[in-house]
Amino acid sequence: SLILAIESSCDETSVALVRDGKTLLSNVVSSQIESHKRFGGVVPEVASRHHVERITYVIDDALSEAGVTMQDVDAVAVTQGPGLVGALLVGISAAKALAFAHSKPLIGVHHIAGHIYANELVEEMEFPLVCLVVSGGHTELVYMPEHGVFEVIGETRDDAAGEAYDKVARTLSLPYPGGPAIDRLAADGEDTYKFPRVRLEAGSFDFSFSGLKSSVINAVHNAEQRGETVIPENLAASFQASVVEVLVEKAIRAVKEKGAKQLLVAGGVAANRGLRAALKEATDREGIRLVIPPLDLCGDNAGMIGVAAHHAYVRGKRDTLAMNAVPGLSLEESMTV
Ligand code: ATP
Ligand code: MG
Ligand code: FE
Repeated sequence: SLILAIESSCDETSVALVRDGKTLLSNVVSSQIESHKRFGGVVPEVASRHHVERITYVIDDALSEAGVTMQDVDAVAVTQGPGLVGALLVGISAAKALAFAHSKPLIGVHHIAGHIYANELVEEMEFPLVCLVVSGGHTELVYMPEHGVFEVIGETRDDAAGEAYDKVARTLSLPYPGGPAIDRLAADGEDTYKFPRVRLEAGSFDFSFSGLKSSVINAVHNAEQRGETVIPENLAASFQASVVEVLVEKAIRAVKEKGAKQLLVAGGVAANRGLRAALKEATDREGIRLVIPPLDLCGDNAGMIGVAAHHAYVRGKRDTLAMNAVPGLSLEESMTV
């Protein structure tokens, strides 16, 4: 198949052309980070306006970079949710317009399914598998017995991992998005603070990061009150050590308990160097096959949406022009047809 995919769920306007769910002929990403930086986070209205301004150019760029025309395309795929409703609607309207004008089928894709399928560009999926999803809005352990079937076996009860990174970064007055900044600092620090590792009930695959976030904020305030200065490198390294230890531990246990053949990693936080190193070390030790997308496919991009859409397409998933944005779309119900 040749799929034109559109992603606009948050602050990246992206369009990709994907051949057979395996080859990215193009994957154009137009980021809005600079526009949101001065607000310290994504402003929904600003995001929607940027998508409207950029989307047609990004579509044209993606088609010309791939050297194909709309006539060559078999289906138009688009992120249906979850995400910011106004942002999603821009991509969905563009996808519907293309599908209607060129009489192509339309396929709605779950954003997190997209993040998970980015791994197919590295190594073919082998089932059953477990995927550790760590992004700006999600932290989940997902069990997949086959293509398009997702079972969430654990999830965060409060903040997502990326959200915790961004909030801790704010406390340290680091620029948005905080993840990459903390990652860089952590590389030069040590786990001197020994923040708590929150494991919840024995056997649980759920996560909780809001207590850790509070511990970091308290450490900063306590130091301020005593007139001391914190060492940002150590604070970042301590925070990261706590997040990474629990993520790796639960992911490995999920793989063993589920008899999974692969451990996949997905989402923006999958770019974290500390997490990548710790997962590599633990999976080598346990003899588990680890798959992680390259750095440029961890964050939001339409390529991953096109890969997921290919697998939905071959299994017959089609949406109508009545399809709407679903800001709270469920992963478990998304691709089962
Ligand atoms: P979701 O995918 O859950 O809808 P999102 O699309 O906003 O949310 P992503 O684009 O997948 O999230 O990831 C963005 C998140 O990844 C941000 O929270 C960012 O701080 C974090 N992040 C990016 N790079 C790194 C890194 N190197 N280390 C830690 N976190 C990172
Ligand atoms: Mg983003
Ligand atoms: Fe995302």
